[in-house]
Parts: sequence; structure tokens; C-alpha cells
Amino acid sequence: MEIGVLALQGAFQEHRAVLEKLGAKVREVRQVKDLDAIKGLVLPGGESTVQGKLLHELGLFEPLQAKILDGLPVLATCAGLILLAQKLDQDSTQHLATLPVTVKRNAFGRQSASFQAAIQVGDLTNFPAVFIRAPYITQLSPEVQVLARVEDKIVAVAYQNQIGLAFHPELSLDDRIHQAFLAKVAAYSSKD
Ligand code: GLN
Repeated sequence: MEIGVLALQGAFQEHRAVLEKLGAKVREVRQVKDLDAIKGLVLPGGESTVQGKLLHELGLFEPLQAKILDGLPVLATCAGLILLAQKLDQDSTQHLATLPVTVKRNAFGRQSASFQAAIQVGDLTNFPAVFIRAPYITQLSPEVQVLARVEDKIVAVAYQNQIGLAFHPELSLDDRIHQAFLAKVAAYSSKD
């Protein structure tokens, strides 16, 4: 069971390390053929504008979007969440648009551009969440489940096969989110 990690830019190595520590086989996704065998996909943090541009340049945009719409489990963190969002707050940019939420980029302001907070994420208590120039979710469709909030702002959601996090679980020493994602991927891939 291979897990893809989009490896165009940003914190993909860190996700790879956590997934491998948990025993997963990882494929770095840089071209369309890398999508063939994967049973799950991580979209890492970084710079969403750059990542979005590279997705188009490498011809990955449409095949990736189709896979997500077809049910491929996705764990998107920070810039990854921005790539999935259907809308960006006060910004007409749209990337994959598979997740029915509106996301505000760099939303916590300059004072708190980077911070860590112990938060509840779904069933997981006390998760050490690292926020770096993080977005948050300003609007969401009723079918989208809120998994976490910080300062009343929505910072983690789940919708069908997609999990979107405003923070970086790959940068804390806590691998429970990656474990839960691998369990979700295992359940999905045992369906074929
Ligand atoms: N601010 C970045 C963006 O807009 C996201 C930050 C991150 O991924 N740590 O893409």
C-alpha cells in the first residue's frame, strides 16, 4: 500500500519521515505516473501559490483533482488545505476546489504568524499543533465536519475522503494524525 506525498515544494520530507516511521511505503508525487499506485495522498504545507502553479505546469492538476473526486483519501496540511479549498477569502484564486470551504490565508496575522497550541482534533486530545503563517476556515458547507478550533477559528475539518488541517502535524512529535490517516487509507484500499 503506497502513500503519495506531493513533493513539488514545502514540507514533504517531514511527512515522508513520519509515514515511514509508522511503516508506510511512501511515493513522492512529482509526475502523473506517480499517481497510479497510490492509495492515499498527503498535500504538504509550503507556499500554495507556488504549489498550485507547479501542479499546472507538470500536468498534475487535472489527474490529481479527478483522483480526489473519485474518493482517494487525502490529508492536506496548511498550504495543502488552501489547495483543496473551494474558495479563498477575498481572493479569486482557486486551486483544486474539492473541499467545500472558504479559507483565509495567513489568517492569524503578523503577531501570531507562528505558534504552537495543544488542541483537541476530533477524538484526539491535547494534540500539539504547530501553526506557521497558517490559514483558517471562514465558511463551510453543512456537510463539512469541524475537527478543531483555535481561538474560535476553525483549523481542522473532514469531508468525505478529505481531511484539511491549518497546522503542521508532521512538525510535532505526535504521530496520531498520521496514524489515523493510515487507518483511513487501509479501510479505503480494502474496498477494491
Ligand atoms: N501561508 C502559506 C500559503 O498561503 C501556507 C503556510 C504553510 O503552509 N505553512 O500558502
